[in-house]
Amino acid sequence: MKLLEDMIRKNGTVLPGEVLKVDNFLNHQVDPKLMYELGGEFKRLFKDEGITRILTVESSGIAPAVMTGLQMDVPVVFARKHKSLTLIDNLYTATVYSYTKQVSNKISVDKRFILPNDRVLIIDDFLANGQAVQGLLEIASAAKVEVAGVGVVIEKSFQKGRKMLEKTGIHVEALARIASLANNEVTFVQD
Ligand code: 5GP
Repeated sequence: MKLLEDMIRKNGTVLPGEVLKVDNFLNHQVDPKLMYELGGEFKRLFKDEGITRILTVESSGIAPAVMTGLQMDVPVVFARKHKSLTLIDNLYTATVYSYTKQVSNKISVDKRFILPNDRVLIIDDFLANGQAVQGLLEIASAAKVEVAGVGVVIEKSFQKGRKMLEKTGIHVEALARIASLANNEVTFVQD
């Protein structure tokens, strides 16, 4: 998506460890108009999937997920992060290792907020090694709902998340695909 690529070119900075910092429009300060446009693009890409609910994980997935929910007119639920969890009877849970923070978190969704027969669209800010999406897939599987798609704002195509997801056969879409962050330069995948 050209609008997003332009934004990344203008505002993104590359940090050590092949991390792209985009905290002035996505990960800290949020650009609502851009998020709304991203939501519209996800709606277009997943319009034939019969989506009934959007699932994301706090905190950076929430902005694009809410705007996608607004565009698609479906509810949005975000998995919450905890260091540890004791009372889990009413929760679906999974463990996620964070690439950027290098810690494991338990994530959970209250059973009231994923319903039988839901067709879920998973949305997240980044796809890197696929741990966050994997955790959300585990939650969907525990809830016995169908995952009809995975939409990520930025995919780091040189990491293994995309390949991992393609093996599952799920419909995956990324609005910006990054081929490399070598030499502190952002290079996009050529379509
Ligand atoms: P994964 O679980 O796919 O390895 O990584 C996805 C999560 O890690 C995202 O939800 C995002 O918060 C974070 N992440 C991974 N790579 C980057 C990056 O290059 N920049 C930023 N800002 N976050 C990243």
